[in-house]
Amino acid sequence: ATPMSIMTATGRGAQAGVLIKNAEALERFEKVDTLIVDKTGTLTEGKPRLVAVLPEPGHDETEVLRLAASLERGSEHPLAEAIVTGAEARGVSLADASDFDALTGKGVMGRVDGQAVALGNRALLEELGLDAAALADRANARRDEGETVMFVVLDGAVAGMVSVADPVKETTPAALKALHALGFRVIMATGDNERTARAVAARLGIDEIRADVLPEDKARIIRELQEQGRQVAMAGDGVNDAPALAQADVGVAMGTGADVAIESAGFTLVKGDLDGIVRARRLSRATMRNIR
Ligand code: ADP
Ligand code: MG
Repeated sequence: ATPMSIMTATGRGAQAGVLIKNAEALERFEKVDTLIVDKTGTLTEGKPRLVAVLPEPGHDETEVLRLAASLERGSEHPLAEAIVTGAEARGVSLADASDFDALTGKGVMGRVDGQAVALGNRALLEELGLDAAALADRANARRDEGETVMFVVLDGAVAGMVSVADPVKETTPAALKALHALGFRVIMATGDNERTARAVAARLGIDEIRADVLPEDKARIIRELQEQGRQVAMAGDGVNDAPALAQADVGVAMGTGADVAIESAGFTLVKGDLDGIVRARRLSRATMRNIR
């Protein structure tokens, strides 16, 4: 494209809330056929709310929540914020945690009031040599609603579960419809549980998902698609998404997301709404058509 047509597109994009970092991004977007979208914070609001505390027999609901929330005060993960805010809203007073440790993609552990507490997903339980089979039915019922379930471990045994819900952004369903209509193959990638991911995807008409992925997996998934000859765009918001945004032919960051995600991307959607991608694609088309 000519410098003039790029400038025009950049100006139009800015007016429409689509920031274009460079000409390459604009040129490449026209060829993109596959779109990888992060779930949390990209398709969803990324502001999960605590919706249920499910103690195991012999454990107290408030106490399970108190221990979980006390521990999560040490974490900056959106799930942690949901649990802490949920506990505070229920009037639970929190204790100080010590020996805090975060396990990427799995959860957190530490000590609260002298007790060993851990909180996270099935991978975390496996790490601790525990098994969630007895809780599977109850956990799955929540996941089928699109909720994310976390296990609370107390002194080496599962004491209960906490469940959070992260609503889909208002603009997401229409944006996905438009993206499908444009012929994109859309794949959801998430660190969340497969069952939860499938429930959210089903509501949005997405039939391909990659769940339980670690941050480095997202970049690898993209590389594999590229090796199959796919031209891949990645949309994401998190620190976790930065390697994938850099690996993609075109990275699209949510303007509401982490700085490192924005730095790794060729496009930034100022309002963090996925319908900005549809606009970005149109700009790319128009620019490339202008110069042919
Ligand atoms: P994503 O942001 O795509 O959901 P993450 O890698 O941040 O992926 O998290 C993956 C999973 O690890 C979460 O769904 C959750 O089960 C668990 N996890 C990560 N951090 C925490 C935390 N602070 N508290 C509880 N669980 C966590
Ligand atoms: Mg995210």
